[in-house]
Amino acid sequence: MKVKRYKRVNKYLQFYMNSFGYRPPFQVVIDATFAQSCLKSKINIREQMTKYFGKHEIKLVTTVCVVQETQRLSQSLYGALLVIKQFPIHRCGHEKSPIAANDCIRELICGSGNNNPDHYMLATQDLQLTRSVRRSVVCPLIYLNGNVIVMTKPVDSVKEEAHRRGVDASDQLAEHDVQVLSKLKEIHGLADDSVGDNQPKKRRKGPKGPNPLSCKKPKTKPTTTTTTKTSGAGSSGSAGGGDGGTGSTDSRLRKRKRNRGRGGAASKTTHIKQMFDKIVANISTGGGGGGADTTN
Ligand SMILES: [Zn+2]
Repeated sequence: MKVKRYKRVNKYLQFYMNSFGYRPPFQVVIDATFAQSCLKSKINIREQMTKYFGKHEIKLVTTVCVVQETQRLSQSLYGALLVIKQFPIHRCGHEKSPIAANDCIRELICGSGNNNPDHYMLATQDLQLTRSVRRSVVCPLIYLNGNVIVMTKPVDSVKEEAHRRGVDASDQLAEHDVQVLSKLKEIHGLADDSVGDNQPKKRRKGPKGPNPLSCKKPKTKPTTTTTTKTSGAGSSGSAGGGDGGTGSTDSRLRKRKRNRGRGGAASKTTHIKQMFDKIVANISTGGGGGGADTTN
């Protein structure tokens, strides 16, 4: 289970890094509710957080507003105050006049443009704060589930946003690539090829144009010219015909070859049968070299 939990958070972190530009050290804003819950469950926040994030470096921070509010509630949250004071105080802009912790965190994370520009993560047990942050910005949310620190799974709206950004990025990349390609082509004098980029598809169709049967015929020839002297003469004749230009003899030879080619296997077998019959006949009559004569 533990391994699964670490794998899962790694997956989520990778998602936020790839889609939203999150980079370690990840800044995790901790509020009093989270500190209080961890204290109750006897969880050492720094230790467990570091373990949970594994190889990724983290920076646990809080704000002056959170500390001030916890101080005001120190009667019930004294332990949480001690915990929260361990973390460095991040500048939130309310140092002179602290505001409510939730408002401060919301302002810090959402920023002016409501887009979490500084890539904060939020560790809180406050459902109201979680909902309001989730509704307005992309922000990884961490909470304590029992006695285990957990990052919430990116919700559908976050995934959609990631997809939208991904599409935008790919569009930009495509434009950039096209520009680079065109420049490279200009440099290497291949500008015409850019026009001809559409042509290769037509060229692909081209090779189908030449009659494939005309290419196959020469392949059938060697199979037919196996046995007799006439085939050898035919081949030499055809070569001579090619040189001398005697088209009529050429065509005759081709016709002969084709005929043999068509019935090549059958004629072979009948010929062997005839030879075999003759040899048998010769043996029965007492003659020896008849078969050899016939082969020649
Ligand atoms: Zn503040």
